[in-house]
Amino acid sequence: MTQDPNRLRADLSPELLSRYSGSCPRYTSYPTADRFAPLEGAKPWLALENIRRLSLYVHIPFCHSLCYFCACNKVITNQYGLASDYLDCLLKEARWYRDRVASAPVVQLHLGGGTPTFLNDSDLRRLVEGLGEVFQLGSGDAVEYSIEADPRTLEPDTLVTLRELGFNRLSLGIQDFNTDVQLAINRICSPQQVEQLTTAARENGFRSISYDLIYGLPRQTVAGLQSTLDKVMELAPDRIALYHYAHLPHRFKAQRLIDTDTTPGPMEKIAMQLAAVSALENAGYEFLGMDHFALPGDELAQAARAGQLKRNFQGYTVMPADALVGLGASAISYSADGYWQNLHRLKEYSGAIREQGFAAYRGWQLSEDDRLRQYVVMELMCRLQLDKEQVSRMAGGPFDEFFRGDLARLQPLFDDGLVEQDRDYLRITPRGRWFTRNIASAFDAYLHGRSTETEYSRVL
Ligand code: SF4
Repeated sequence: MTQDPNRLRADLSPELLSRYSGSCPRYTSYPTADRFAPLEGAKPWLALENIRRLSLYVHIPFCHSLCYFCACNKVITNQYGLASDYLDCLLKEARWYRDRVASAPVVQLHLGGGTPTFLNDSDLRRLVEGLGEVFQLGSGDAVEYSIEADPRTLEPDTLVTLRELGFNRLSLGIQDFNTDVQLAINRICSPQQVEQLTTAARENGFRSISYDLIYGLPRQTVAGLQSTLDKVMELAPDRIALYHYAHLPHRFKAQRLIDTDTTPGPMEKIAMQLAAVSALENAGYEFLGMDHFALPGDELAQAARAGQLKRNFQGYTVMPADALVGLGASAISYSADGYWQNLHRLKEYSGAIREQGFAAYRGWQLSEDDRLRQYVVMELMCRLQLDKEQVSRMAGGPFDEFFRGDLARLQPLFDDGLVEQDRDYLRITPRGRWFTRNIASAFDAYLHGRSTETEYSRVL
């Protein structure tokens, strides 16, 4: 469904944003990962034998220093030997899949972290070549190879290596360019470093460059965020992810190093969001959904307009795959039958891999109801609408009856004009796009009747 991006912000008001600013899952999976439990005999990886296209995710948990806002699974170290040993484990884990996954082409490879560029060039090469011995790695523009990089430490020469290895997308963690904010989060990075890397990535033929920005950080102001955005607009990345900082010091130890009194309040964060959205729209960026923006020519924006976006643990994508194999500590995999997740801690993950080549400790076997709701949630997140007849066929009964309770939960969002329906479709309205996860959550069978306040990040 195509929607006019210029209409997106028009209907947003601080009152509306604050009404739906509570905690809510981000739906990179359904059910969400916090539902995962010991698999007790279930083996969702068996469905890998029947796939036609595969995605790979590799988690590199190492970082040189701690960013105080961080909620990722990471290990702060300057001992490079840890990374070399870990690489041995990753390749051993990859080999565990050798006889369990159909020889399907890999259409997507994503290196996330931590800091994937913590690995030196020769280990990056060892990793990708090692994966190539197990999986059918594709090449060229038909595949999406992406890497998250830390602009503080990435050397322009590494971009040459990455291109040689097939990487064509680069994601740079910017967060905010203001010195006060950077000091408060312990992440000092100059615009010049980012500009140099952006230029080098373009010269080396990276097809898409993405920046991560965060609003709601300590010592951040609306004016300061605006100045960061002005600089970002000059560099014109193809994609921008604008995340909301969720201050959850009781859950994330690093965040205890942030003085809570320096974090902006809810109304200030709403003002930041509105200012950022306005700046991005004025610069021609299209809102894809869930924090993500792209220039109109970028393939994600094109796919969004054509109703062809997909979503996985890395966010939105244009590359549909039947399954994802996640390698490394805490990595999550999925197949048509369900999800499985690796042990989080480096020592436990490495121990399990050395012992048995496999480190999953929990997951989820999908039931028929899960599959139906997974379809509903992902359609809403990616296509912003539900074809009621299609869903009725899957449910084996009329949509309005099957989802009577879910639709009742949606009533306030109908009343606020965020979602609408007729006989054939349930649709998210242009103003409703900012509340996609609130809308999807009405169909989450596991969410209702329990407290979400401390479990999920707040929408604002
Ligand atoms: S934000 Fe990124 S670089 Fe900073 S500690 Fe977390 S994972 Fe490491």
